[in-house]
Amino acid sequence: MLNHPCTGRPFDSPVPPGAGWPGDPATPGTPVAADAAQVTRLAGQARSIDELDALISVCRACPRLVTWREQVAVTKRRSFADQPYWGRPVPGWGSPQPKIVIVGLAPAANGANRTGRMFTGDRSGDQLYAALHRTGLVNQPTSVDAADGLHTDDIRIIAPVRCAPPANAPTTVERNTCAPWNDAEWQLIAPGVRVVVALGGFAWQVALRMAADVPPKPRPKFGHGAVAELGPTRWLLGCYHPSQQNMFTGRLTPAMLDDVFTRAAGLAGLSD
Ligand code: SF4
Repeated sequence: MLNHPCTGRPFDSPVPPGAGWPGDPATPGTPVAADAAQVTRLAGQARSIDELDALISVCRACPRLVTWREQVAVTKRRSFADQPYWGRPVPGWGSPQPKIVIVGLAPAANGANRTGRMFTGDRSGDQLYAALHRTGLVNQPTSVDAADGLHTDDIRIIAPVRCAPPANAPTTVERNTCAPWNDAEWQLIAPGVRVVVALGGFAWQVALRMAADVPPKPRPKFGHGAVAELGPTRWLLGCYHPSQQNMFTGRLTPAMLDDVFTRAAGLAGLSD
């Protein structure tokens, strides 16, 4: 066992459900989805975000991803060798009644797969949460672990695939297997959502399918700063993914991130 970097409490890697990890929504008795049919059935039964988060966090429906996330949790990156790894699917993070939903791709092997919280503990998250803080959507500019006090009343961050995939590349089957979790989450949070921000082209396609009242025709194209109407009071904004590569090459800058989230806050009625 190794100690959590913030709480100091010891954990196995991967972390067993209900062991006391900060923010762990599950218990040892939470039902485990073992295949695609069980994901569909359990996702359809969830009646609250808390219940859904718990079910997602113990899912084992994709054999390749379960093996990978748990293998990474044991071998670890050298710089995190002294830490326990979450090593489980990562539930959505943020308000259960958000006005803005941010759609990513999948957890990073040594980021959210380590910390158990979306975009927490990696370079992409450093950029994302700094921008969200500059635009007043979260309470602090950093997101380092699941006990660091990060809070929001306005946003929720979700991902179409909840387990870290090898080479950041889930297969089509894995995407389809995980989709019912995302769809169930959307159904629970949708009523108050005014803006969906898609981080990248795949997230854009997922958001169009998930959130449009009627699929728009012609299908709007993804681009940084692109805007599509999803319904009378709901918009989709495109944003390049704040990946290390996009930020390092200057394809995406902090100012470009700020522009998107300032616009999102304005459309959601959150601006001063
Ligand atoms: Fe379950 Fe989704 Fe992870 Fe597959 S990717 S094991 S469906 S949580």
